[in-house]
Amino acid sequence: MTRGKVRKDNTLVDMKTRTKSISINKTSKKSGSTLPLNKRKLPSISPKNRRPPIVTFMGHVDHGKTTLLDTIRNTNVIAKEHGGITQHIGAYQIWYQGRAITFIDTPGHAAFAKMRAHGAKVTDIVVLVIAANDGVKPQTREAIQHIKTAKVPFLVALNKIDLPEANVERVKGQLAEEGVVVESYGGKIPIIEVSGKTGKNIDQLLEMILLLSDLEELKADPQGEVEAVVIETRQDHRKGILASLLVKNGTLRVGSKITLGDQTATVRALTDAEGKTVTEAGPATPVEMLGLKTLPQVGQTIGGKQEKMETFQVVQAKSKQVLTKKEGTESEEIEKEEEKQTIRVVLKADVSGTLEAITSNLSEEVEIVAAGVGEVNESDILLASATKAKIYAFNTKVSSSAKKLAEAEKVTIKTFNVIYHLFEDLEKQVLKILEPTIDEEVVGEANIIAQFEIRGERIIGLRVTTGEIRKAFPIHLKRGEELIADARIKTLRRGKEDIDTAKQGTECGIVLKPQVDFKLGDMVISYRKIEET
Ligand code: GDP
Repeated sequence: MTRGKVRKDNTLVDMKTRTKSISINKTSKKSGSTLPLNKRKLPSISPKNRRPPIVTFMGHVDHGKTTLLDTIRNTNVIAKEHGGITQHIGAYQIWYQGRAITFIDTPGHAAFAKMRAHGAKVTDIVVLVIAANDGVKPQTREAIQHIKTAKVPFLVALNKIDLPEANVERVKGQLAEEGVVVESYGGKIPIIEVSGKTGKNIDQLLEMILLLSDLEELKADPQGEVEAVVIETRQDHRKGILASLLVKNGTLRVGSKITLGDQTATVRALTDAEGKTVTEAGPATPVEMLGLKTLPQVGQTIGGKQEKMETFQVVQAKSKQVLTKKEGTESEEIEKEEEKQTIRVVLKADVSGTLEAITSNLSEEVEIVAAGVGEVNESDILLASATKAKIYAFNTKVSSSAKKLAEAEKVTIKTFNVIYHLFEDLEKQVLKILEPTIDEEVVGEANIIAQFEIRGERIIGLRVTTGEIRKAFPIHLKRGEELIADARIKTLRRGKEDIDTAKQGTECGIVLKPQVDFKLGDMVISYRKIEET
């Protein structure tokens, strides 16, 4: 049994393999022989349309819902292995025994009821958490009521089994009084004795969730119309409105047009629960979306037609139009285009299939001046120079004469071998132009020379090389010339002492907010913003 199976990042390419890898797992070594659930007939859904279950934890306060959710996430963590940092976006997904399970990580029945009030059926399976030392309590009864009204399949996680006061039989009896007859009492409701604290039987709990989900017709069509439910919302002072979504059907893509009530919008950016920028999210995948103009309600449904891949020819035709226009009144047109704040790109890729995949998944701020197959040549450079575009090359070479010409013409060429790196880079450029125009004054620069982790916080060890690092000012994290992230300094310390400023030649430790994906050798640039008048 493999635990914490490494998941690939959410790229276009991986989404396909990921759907394929979700297989029906009827047998389980541990629970297979003993559990009657396992013997029930499974519905036949093609693996292609099978989607992961969406699970909510309910139960009385302090019975251990949050602890269980954390333990499950930490022991099956994907983020660490990919250098990502777990984010709270209202739900997360784990991989267990080669299959995905989605957990809503705001436990309790308030969120559950709120979603149902909007008619959204998000949860497929409820885990009713009961502390074995405390038994059935008022909120346990409320949860049972919600579960019964919503007719959602559920199982009982009898938590805190590590405590000496744990009394399993007493809880089973109490549950029977509430009409919940567990399997060992001759009923149908599975019960697993667990400890969120020690991690005991968490694997059995996950196996049971998978077994229970096998009995449900959990299907979705990744190619179908998009249906996604809002599970959380927040407003970011830089980015604007962010909505956490669980995709129920179809595939949500960056650049797609969506509807929310009367509102129509374009998906500008998607981030997964590991904080990674992704280009699409398929069924049961939690993502945070940027692009809505007004704050949606939790439980509201976002819809959208599945965008057809634009054909290569169409893209080419569009680009030609842009070019002919520019030939006429070149400088005027370019100026107007600049006002529109777009990023111009000349795109080259190895094959037309990849080119289509890229062009049809770009946000509206990215303007493709031309797209073609083959190596980057001199005419691409001249075109990019004339239209003030950058060249993005995927899986293709740059001819040596083109390299020379690019230097002379000061044209940037970016080459990529991983598709999501290309999207990430473009998304970063988009976010930059979406920010208000501000001038910056560099206050100081420091080199990352060490890293530590204390109580889950990543501490960055710095040596200040020029100027000073000030706690009050924002920072850029740079790798060579590349901007990796923007953040603020949460703590600035020398040894154990909190300081406001670290001067040139000194060493200090900082914690960033939000935590970012840094590497030794990266530079931290402290800067001051000067608003333009
Ligand atoms: P929630 O209100 O249901 O989310 O409960 P929490 O997860 O916040 O847990 C409440 C308290 O119970 C915390 O102090 C936890 O450390 C503790 N706790 C949670 N699970 C266990 C467990 O399995 N064993 C023990 N001994 N304590 C636990």
